[in-house]
Amino acid sequence: MFPQDHREHLSHWHRTAAPWRSHPGQGSGSRALQADLCVVGGGIVGASAAYLARAQGWRVVLVDALAPALGASGRNAGMLLTGLADNYAQAVDRYGRSRARKLWQLTIRNRETLLALAQELGVPHRRCGSWLLADCPEEARALARSARLLAEDGFPHTFTEEDPWGRGFLAGLLRPQDAVVHPARLVQALVEASQALMLAGCLVTRVTSTAGTVHVQGPGFRVECQAALLATNAYSVRLDPYFQGRIRPCRGQIQLTEPGPLCFPQAGYSHFGYYYFRQIPEPDDPSRARWLIGGARHRHQEAECGHLAPTPTPSVQADLRRYTRRYFPECAALPVAATWAGTMAFTSDGLPLVGELPDRPGVYFCVGFNGHGMGLGYVAAEMAVSGIQQGHVEDRFRG
Ligand SMILES: Cc1cc2nc3c(=O)[nH]c(=O)nc-3n(C[C@H](O)[C@H](O)[C@H](O)COP(=O)(O)OP(=O)(O)OC[C@H]3O[C@@H](n4cnc5c(N)ncnc54)[C@H](O)[C@@H]3O)c2cc1C
Repeated sequence: MFPQDHREHLSHWHRTAAPWRSHPGQGSGSRALQADLCVVGGGIVGASAAYLARAQGWRVVLVDALAPALGASGRNAGMLLTGLADNYAQAVDRYGRSRARKLWQLTIRNRETLLALAQELGVPHRRCGSWLLADCPEEARALARSARLLAEDGFPHTFTEEDPWGRGFLAGLLRPQDAVVHPARLVQALVEASQALMLAGCLVTRVTSTAGTVHVQGPGFRVECQAALLATNAYSVRLDPYFQGRIRPCRGQIQLTEPGPLCFPQAGYSHFGYYYFRQIPEPDDPSRARWLIGGARHRHQEAECGHLAPTPTPSVQADLRRYTRRYFPECAALPVAATWAGTMAFTSDGLPLVGELPDRPGVYFCVGFNGHGMGLGYVAAEMAVSGIQQGHVEDRFRG
């Protein structure tokens, strides 16, 4: 079950997913377990890693301080987007052409794999496409240049110098194959399908490595394993000082309205990604949909950085409302039904960190998703699991 003390901070996704129930033989309690792999963190990354490792026939224990999807993975916008936070032109400038191309390909593979899994596991999803929308001439120029580079590199897109929705944007770039998913149900479904032994409500306080054995422990439990994978994203620094200065936690907030008419079939992303939105069709009447809007973090940098409670604040929520009123007034007329927040993890180069801790052999990590863990989490987990198998992680984000 979702712990009672987090109930008031739950997202729409938590409220529309089945409460997490430990299966027979699972759950917490005072126990000593043995495993091939212990995954710490039951978000999209930990769930994907558990799923992939179990498919190799490994004995896997998955431990979460709360329950699957109670971290950022159950608090996001559920967008499976092509690319990173940067648009393609910015990514080419930042990482070079060849690496930007590889990063875009990784996100496409991530999206397609998660969509196929969502289909197979009965998780709500929709291939709706997503728009990047320019709010200023600089962003419009970046989108125009992105369109030229995407065309040369063979990535599907449509560019328009006009606002596709007549809302005051200066240009739009459509990624027609992007998709949305119910993120909490996807994480839960992956955990269930993995059949990993899940320890929910178990805070890991210590991970040690001696003579080829890794020990993962917390109050009332201890897992002895060949390898551990930290999929603890924003909270990683609490487990190892290695992440100090490498992972910067920041809160993100979302606002959701009551249902109204479905007006915008695609997802949207503007102000260089600092605002994002989509409509969520009602399950029993797809002509009606809730308006979901998130972001505005750039206007509250200091207040939103650090390990903060997953509690929305009036100032960020007012900005989200202002944005909706300005660009989508028909949605601003709908009453707000829910607000929530979650904590993301940012890295200095905008790419996830995947590797093995230098002074703790057998302790691996897969963290730092820069607000795009749904778009990159599965392929990152794949990198980590295959690295654990081979005894060496190949960092394909930077390599
Ligand atoms: C408001 C918001 C909107 C977003 N929108 C999108 C989007 O539309 N698309 C997208 O791609 N990304 C989005 N993101 C980012 C995305 O949610 C994250 O990048 C992704 O969920 C990270 O997944 P994760 O598994 O690494 O971490 P998390 O989901 O945070 O999971 C980490 C887990 O580790 C557990 N844990 C931590 N420490 C310990 C410990 N010591 N012991 C035991 N357990 C521990 C936590 O309880 C948690 O369950 C958004 C994020 C937010 C906050």
